Amino acid sequence: MAIQSVGIVGAGQMGNGIAHVFALAGYDVLMTDISREALDKAVALVDRNLSRQASRGKISDQDRDAALGRIRTTLQLSDLGQCDLIIEAATERETVKQAIFEDLLPHLKPETILASNTSSISITRLASRTDRPERFIGVHFMNPVPVMQLVELIRGIATDEATYKQLLEVVEKIGKTAASAEDFPAFIVNRVLIPMINEAVYVLYEGVGSVRSIDESMKLGANHPMGPLELADFIGLDTCLAIMNVLHDGLADTKYRPCPLLVKYVEAGWLGRKTGRGFYDYSGETPVPTR
Ligand code: NAD
Repeated sequence: MAIQSVGIVGAGQMGNGIAHVFALAGYDVLMTDISREALDKAVALVDRNLSRQASRGKISDQDRDAALGRIRTTLQLSDLGQCDLIIEAATERETVKQAIFEDLLPHLKPETILASNTSSISITRLASRTDRPERFIGVHFMNPVPVMQLVELIRGIATDEATYKQLLEVVEKIGKTAASAEDFPAFIVNRVLIPMINEAVYVLYEGVGSVRSIDESMKLGANHPMGPLELADFIGLDTCLAIMNVLHDGLADTKYRPCPLLVKYVEAGWLGRKTGRGFYDYSGETPVPTR
């Protein structure tokens, strides 16, 4: 089966970027969310980002218009049933993801491939709750999706070779590079990246450095393009915490304990850029450190 239509569940930071790259590569995209506002915001954002690419000469105006024309939205999850590939990019909570797949199952074509953009949850476990573990795979995009080159492909224990090969082709068609990761907590990128961010929050918590000095140190001292706290705000502090919890539970090693300050920020609803405040305050012209 050639994949032509792609359903996307969750129109947040990742969902809109995934819709963008698939529509630009010629796929028909149908995006759903529990919130109409999230869907409208996502489409407006794709429009803005495509227009920026067009104004920089990276794509033509016709490409932009055609891509936008390929994106449709719906509040009915069941409408995604006819899609060839469904990518779940909803909130990083296992119960949320399980409920989505459960609700989708009765509406799917037998050959539809299910994928999750989870940052850390076991693909094998998510797949085992569906009727098609052999056609279930982890497709982990990086944020911001239109810019970042890597896509991690994670095979669960039951994922078949045909599904993996189809996804390799899809990743190539959207102009990205695939890296294969085994199905262990947080896969490759986040297994390395998120504990580093968590450690930076500990450094802040213990008063070793301020937000600004930690970020400057890692940019100038380790040649990172973004500081770890700036990056945490970008990813979303709730997502960072969820990934630390998955590492802690899944690998049962105390070195993965989430920093209490990270927990506190999430409890406060200070989730980073998406809520306007995290380790930086984004309400003004330039971000201002909050500690
Ligand atoms: P987000 O909070 O920006 O968006 C999540 C969206 O899911 C929201 O719009 C919410 O309304 C929607 N949602 C919640 N429950 C739903 C349901 N039952 N049905 C449909 N939609 C529902 O989160 P995000 O940063 O886009 O992350 C989404 C997924 O992508 C998570 O699994 C996350 O781990 C993963 N991910 C995130 C990043 C990142 O840097 N933020 C990178 C790679 C992967």
